[in-house]
Amino acid sequence: MENVRNKAAKLAFILPAYNEEEMLAQTVTILTNIKKQLIQAKKIATDSFILIVDDGSTDHTADLMAQMEQETSDILTVQLSRNFGHQKALLAGLTEAIRLADITVTLDADLQDNPTIIESMVDQYLTGSDIVYAVRSSREQDSWFKKNSALAFYRTAAWLGVELVFNHADFRLMSKRAVKALLAMPERNLFLRAMVPLVGYPSSKVYYERKKREAGSSKYPLKKMLAFAIDGITSFSVKPIKLLFNLGLAVSSIAFFEIAYTILEKIIGHPTAGWSSLMIFIWLLGGLNLMAISVIGTYVGKVFTEVKARPTFVIQEKSQRLTQAEERKA
Ligand code: UDP
Ligand code: MG
Repeated sequence: MENVRNKAAKLAFILPAYNEEEMLAQTVTILTNIKKQLIQAKKIATDSFILIVDDGSTDHTADLMAQMEQETSDILTVQLSRNFGHQKALLAGLTEAIRLADITVTLDADLQDNPTIIESMVDQYLTGSDIVYAVRSSREQDSWFKKNSALAFYRTAAWLGVELVFNHADFRLMSKRAVKALLAMPERNLFLRAMVPLVGYPSSKVYYERKKREAGSSKYPLKKMLAFAIDGITSFSVKPIKLLFNLGLAVSSIAFFEIAYTILEKIIGHPTAGWSSLMIFIWLLGGLNLMAISVIGTYVGKVFTEVKARPTFVIQEKSQRLTQAEERKA
């Protein structure tokens, strides 16, 4: 396809980092090389940069970042005031980077998101895509559990009407106008992979093989992953509430049959004490009620957090280089 964008765009690589002292240096070295190649190929502007967001790390990530920034002129850093979580760190990175850059590429700081496909992503941008999703071509690296739970998640989400790109997480390229449209969404309950498709604009996919984490540990244990999945779905679909109504209706109709049966028994003259069936239904309905209340509570909770409109993230410190660059731009 022909390039529709002729000017080499200024690219910001955005790395959210939470306790990544073991991986960060290696990741930055590899990204720097990729950046050099892209500049040589005249695909991106010479002043493209790497922005690292420290999401309240408690190890030496922040020191390492400061050191890297001092040694290399194309590294900018932002430090959040505490650990806000991956999604919010990404939003902080996008907010800062887009003031300076024309396109952004977000990727994990642990090299699991294979950076060698960034060139193909930029090619897609050059031929007209505003959003390029990096999609995992297989899940062979994953455990049986992770593979199947992910599949179950994507299927459930699709069934509930949440528009998601299958096997795509937060490794993506976005143009300036796409980032701006995303940042215009005021919500606090962030689930970026479902928000980005809502932006629209031309988009495309690039496939890659996700690697295993080489060092450090995953910050997404099972409990957090599950919470993230439920949060994602309830942020984008009210269908569970409708399903609850149907479930309630089905359960109530069982009670109607019960009533009819009891009357019939009375007429025939064989009434039973009915203690056990009574107990069963008390427990059954009690449980269903609790489930229903918890689902509705989830949505009420979301409304509550959105209404409070607390800032999504707080920046404690921007590196001097970033502040200067922003001032020059303003
Ligand atoms: N991360 C973050 N804040 C957090 C948790 C994770 O910024 O609270 C970053 C982390 O440093 C990494 C990326 O988000 O760059 C993905 O996290 P991780 O590799 O732990 O997740 P996994 O790949 O295991 O799903
Ligand atoms: Mg990882």
